[in-house]
Amino acid sequence: MIPVCEPLVTEREIELVLDCLKTGWISSAGEYIDQFEKGWASYCKMPYGIAVSNGTTALQIAVRLLDLKPGEEVIMPAFTIISCAQAVTYCGGIPVLVDSDPRNWQMDFAQIESRVTPRTRAIMVVHIYGHPADMDPILAIAKKYGLMVIEDAAEAHGAEYKGQKCGGFGDISVFSFYANKLITTGEGGMVLTKNAELSERARSLRNLCFQKKQRFLHEELGYNFRLTNIQAALGVAQLERIKEIVDRKRAIARYYTKRFADIPGLEFPREEPWAKSVYWVYGVVLNENLGMDAAELALRLAGRGVETRPFFLGMHKQPVFQKMGLFLDEHYPNSERLARRGLYLPNGLAMEEQTIEQVCCAVRECLKEY
Ligand SMILES: *Cc1c(COP(=O)(O)O)cnc(C)c1O
Repeated sequence: MIPVCEPLVTEREIELVLDCLKTGWISSAGEYIDQFEKGWASYCKMPYGIAVSNGTTALQIAVRLLDLKPGEEVIMPAFTIISCAQAVTYCGGIPVLVDSDPRNWQMDFAQIESRVTPRTRAIMVVHIYGHPADMDPILAIAKKYGLMVIEDAAEAHGAEYKGQKCGGFGDISVFSFYANKLITTGEGGMVLTKNAELSERARSLRNLCFQKKQRFLHEELGYNFRLTNIQAALGVAQLERIKEIVDRKRAIARYYTKRFADIPGLEFPREEPWAKSVYWVYGVVLNENLGMDAAELALRLAGRGVETRPFFLGMHKQPVFQKMGLFLDEHYPNSERLARRGLYLPNGLAMEEQTIEQVCCAVRECLKEY
């Protein structure tokens, strides 16, 4: 089976992790943490970085920083990972959903303003599948209504909007360094912010709100969302070769797109003129008039030794939220179509050209049967 994703661990990563082990600083204090936080923040041109245990906990901290009152709202795409919406409900807030742009699969900015209410506190922008969301109109709406912007750039390491790195736009931005993300620490995450006060508070929340003067006196309830120095060492080594990783992802995408250009009924990732995508995944969407849906194509590709993954299922389709009385009778046709018709193909960094070609042939054969 050709796997959807395989992390590539190089000699440099092994060297830095071993170095970390030899220093004995294997827990959540140590120089690699500091180096990784500073390095990542500076790569994204944000002043403060706080390393955390994963992308989901990074979102939890980001939303905690909003100090939501019960029933206050955060606007976000319907088509995203559950971590985004649950971070809001955990804090007593309400996620308010926006459908996808059918062209680039990002949150459709034209539908955001109609979702703003007096209870809206923030817009959570998610750069879906490595392609940036259209930030200028989103930032303009946030400014007009005095909303905070949380940017979830977990899938968009190194992606650019009009020449500026994703994760550098929000008041708060978050990243995941899970093994399938472009840069990985195995498990890991980061919160970036422009605001010194928010950064101090995020640091405190990450570490149980222990205090400097009197450690075991707590003013607020926090979490243990710490990253280890070992994980950070891996991250520092990964960050050294981020350009190579981004270039490789883009090269794999170029190869697929070239080979799929003449297949009717197959939609592949578009790169908007203002965007540099990093193609975190290489998604394809089957046209509605093809008899086959994505689940059927996935089965057929598996039969030919190609592993795939389905697209996100919209937040409004989640039984857990329905049971909470959220999103009842809400419909987001574009995100529903993506969920039904979309899947992603193998695009791991270790893939050789002949393996990519093998996947292309398998896709062609499956579609030819129709
Ligand atoms: C992966 C991902 C997360 C969650 O990250 P974990 O490290 O797996 O918890 C959050 N948001 C988006 C958009 C993601 O792709």
